[in-house]
This record gives sequence, structure tokens and C-alpha cells, in this order.
Amino acid sequence: MADTPAVTYEVLALRYGILAPRIQAQNLLMPDDHMAPEPLDFLVFAIRGGGRTIVMDTGFTPASAQRRGRELLCTPSQALQNAGIDPAKVPDVVLSHMHWDHAGGMEYFSNAQFHLQEEEMAFCTGACMCHPHLRRPFDVEDVVSAVRALYADRLRFHKGTAEIAPGVTLHLIGGHSGGIMCMRVPTDRGWVVLAGDTTHLWANIRGRNPFPVVVDVARMLRGYDILESLADGPDHIIPGHDPLILKRFLPLGDNREIVQLHQPPVG
Ligand SMILES: [Zn+2]
Ligand SMILES: [Zn+2]
Repeated sequence: MADTPAVTYEVLALRYGILAPRIQAQNLLMPDDHMAPEPLDFLVFAIRGGGRTIVMDTGFTPASAQRRGRELLCTPSQALQNAGIDPAKVPDVVLSHMHWDHAGGMEYFSNAQFHLQEEEMAFCTGACMCHPHLRRPFDVEDVVSAVRALYADRLRFHKGTAEIAPGVTLHLIGGHSGGIMCMRVPTDRGWVVLAGDTTHLWANIRGRNPFPVVVDVARMLRGYDILESLADGPDHIIPGHDPLILKRFLPLGDNREIVQLHQPPVG
């Protein structure tokens, strides 16, 4: 990218949960080996720079971990505190989409303004939710939390692309959910794109092999092109659930559950 940012940011991925018993057929629409084990990590992301802290996604709660059979390593709130971030003091939280594992901890961010695409809110409160299949990745309590935030003047809607801090932009992608978005961040190693679930794994985008939880396959595939156009290279696109993230990037201090995405990958 030719544009030179005025501010660059530190970008962290913080793991708080794991889903070990998962096979490739659940992660790739066209698996090479249906039964190959392919676990998922659950992560929240944080960026810091220019005196600002922005968190992307709020993770899930202990109650939903139990209900949905995921292993919670710590609460997303604790993961952020391990990086020196107090959720109660975070001013801006980007909700990539409203799925249960991304919007489940809004109450930890008691003073934040939440950023959400209009299209995602319309999707998770609209007629599509009459279908149990489309409703399954949402938790009604999270949707109600978003409505409460709206009525408390703490929800900021976006329609497409928006700049929320110097150089930090949100981009509507769609495909996996009605109005899912990604976040583009200037760093010292170039433009990094936090993909959220617009690509769960590097294998999804690199193989043009969609994740099977999908509303619109064509839009998901077009989204891969958008992600590539926004990032400075394939390693600048950070998937939403890939266990390779923790293996490929440098840890923050001696905490192996937090890695620095603004530094070049080591593996
Ligand atoms: Zn999702
Ligand atoms: Zn997810």
C-alpha cells in the first residue's frame, strides 16, 4: 500500500479458549481429509497506539462455554488484563459480528462504545432469525446486550467502510454472517488486517476453501479478495480462529497465550 500512516499500532492476539475435538470437514467446505483433526482457537484482539486502545470482539462467557462444549482457558476479560488492559477502561470495542463467541462478553466493557455494521444488527434481529440453522451461531442474550447498548447511546453503527481512529478502518465483508466486518490497522511491519471470522483459518483464504458456517458463499469468496487487497501480504491477514497464530508470532513477554501481530512472523 502506498499510503503512509501517521500513527502505527501494537496489535495483540489473546487466546482465551480452545475447541480441540474438531475435524477438517467442520472447517473446510471442500476438505482433503474429512476426519483429520483440526482444532480451533478462540481469540480476542487488541490494538494500542497514539494513546488509544481498541479491542476487537468480546469473546464468550463461562456459561456459553459450558452450554456449547468449548474449553475456556480464562475469561476474555482476564486475557486482556494479562496484557495490562482493563476492559472497564477500554473506550472502543469493535464487534466483528454478533456470533456467540465474538459478542458474548459485552458486560466486561462497561464504559465502551461498541462498533457494529448496520447490516449485522439487521441480520441478527430480522427475519433470517426465523430459521434455526441461521440462528444457531447467535445467543439471544448477546443480541439483547447490543440492543441495550443502542438504547444507552453506546452502539455506533457503520455502513460499509469507516475510520474509527487515525489509520484504523473497518470494512464490511459479509458471507459468514449478514454484516461481518474486518479491521485494518497500520503497524511498523505494514497494513495488518484482523479478519475476524471472514476467514477462520489461513487454509480458508489461501485455498479459497470456505468455512462451512456460511450465509452467502459467493460473498465469502469475494471477501477473501477484499482482505487481500487491504493487507500488505498473506501474513498480514490474521484469521479469526487459527491455532497457527500462537505458533507463528512472538509472545508478549513470557505469556504464550498472547502474541504480537505487529512483529514479523517467526515461523
Ligand atoms: Zn462467526
Ligand atoms: Zn468465531
